Order: sequence, then C-alpha cells, then structure tokens
Amino acid sequence: MTRDEPGTSSGPLHRFLERSATILFPFLFVSALLLSCRGLLDNGAVWLVVPGAVLGLLFGDFITGLVHWAADTYGEESTPVIGRSLVRPFRVHHVRPLEICEHGVVETIGNTCILATPLFALFVAVMAYGETSAAAAFAVFTAAVTVGVTVATNQFHKWAHQESPPRLARALQRARIILSPEHHRAHHTAPFESSYAITNGWLNPLLNRTRFFRQLEGALRMLGIKPSKGA
Ligand SMILES: [Zn+2]
Ligand SMILES: [Zn+2]
Repeated sequence: MTRDEPGTSSGPLHRFLERSATILFPFLFVSALLLSCRGLLDNGAVWLVVPGAVLGLLFGDFITGLVHWAADTYGEESTPVIGRSLVRPFRVHHVRPLEICEHGVVETIGNTCILATPLFALFVAVMAYGETSAAAAFAVFTAAVTVGVTVATNQFHKWAHQESPPRLARALQRARIILSPEHHRAHHTAPFESSYAITNGWLNPLLNRTRFFRQLEGALRMLGIKPSKGA
C-alpha cells in the first residue's frame, strides 16, 4: 500500500494528525494488547493469545486483500475522497513498485494510524472500564492484533519491496509471518489480478484458487457495480 505522491498530499491539519496518530499507535496498540492479556490471565485463559494472534493475522490479511482488490479494481483517480488517497497510490504502485521504498514511516502508516487510533482507544476503554470476561478479553485481543497488523501492513509491504530490509523483518518474512518478496512477486505480474492479500499472504492460495475476487466482481456486477478496467 502506498499513499499520495509528493506534492499531492494534504494540508497541515492532515500532516499533524498523521504524525500524532503515528506516535500514538505503538502506545495504544501495546496498551490494548497488555490489558486484554491481563484479562485473559485473570480468567485463566492466557493460552487464547495463540489462536487470537493467528486469527488477527488472518483477519488482517483478509482486510488488506479486500481493500487492495477494491482499490485496484474500482474507482478512478478522480473519484472523490478515495481517488487520491487510495485508488491512485495502488495504481501508481503497479507502475513504479519501488517508489514505496522511499516513503518515511509517517508517509507509510500515518493514514491508517489515523483510522486505527479511535479503535484502539475503544479497545483500551473496554478493557479498562468494561467487560472483564475471558470472551471479552479474547475478542479485544483478537481485534487489537487485527487492527495492529492491518496498520503495519503498509510497512510489511514496503519491506517486501526493499532490497535490504531490517534483519528482524527478513526473519519474519522467512517465517512467513509477514509478506515475503517471493510471495508478493505474484501480484506484481500482469494483469495484477491475484494475490491481493499483503499482510502475510496466508489467504492468497485459497482466494486465488476459489477465484474469490472474480466471484465478488460478478456479484457486484449483478448489482450494477462494474470494475473500472475491463468492465
Ligand atoms: Zn495491486
Ligand atoms: Zn507491491
């Protein structure tokens, strides 16, 4: 995932929000994880962190695949709101895939951090003042991992294009916990119509084999919503 090219980004308020949300993100993410882990521990169900983490990584992979597919398939660069912020970056990325490597951390995850901040605030509030059952703690832990890895996916995607990513990133890529360059290469092959999931790509074999997104396009076509390319 990429965002606007230099020169097309928004004004000072948006830049302030991007920076603030990027700084807040690790604190809120870790707080939500720790509070939900304590909830699991208090209920004698700390083992649920394992299925919670796996589910969160799967949900994140699905969300990023869905958003990526939608941006690659629908709308135009001139579409209000999402045209410049979502459609254009993904389409530019197919033409100039290495440009993402030049983006700093705020440019890479700032926009998604803005969307995630209220969710993390909600997770922290629920665990600090609300329900304390094992089910609630498990739901918050899974949701926190889902949102956290969805936000971080822009960074995972950037590492998948970098020639020399950090050593920890390379280890996570080799373990297939985050998107590997080898796996992501399939999406960067014309006509760019497979392997949309970019958190770790775990769901891509299933989504590709079942032609999930082609089926979804067919269903949407029946509702009168046509892809912007090859419609
Ligand atoms: Zn794409
Ligand atoms: Zn890419």
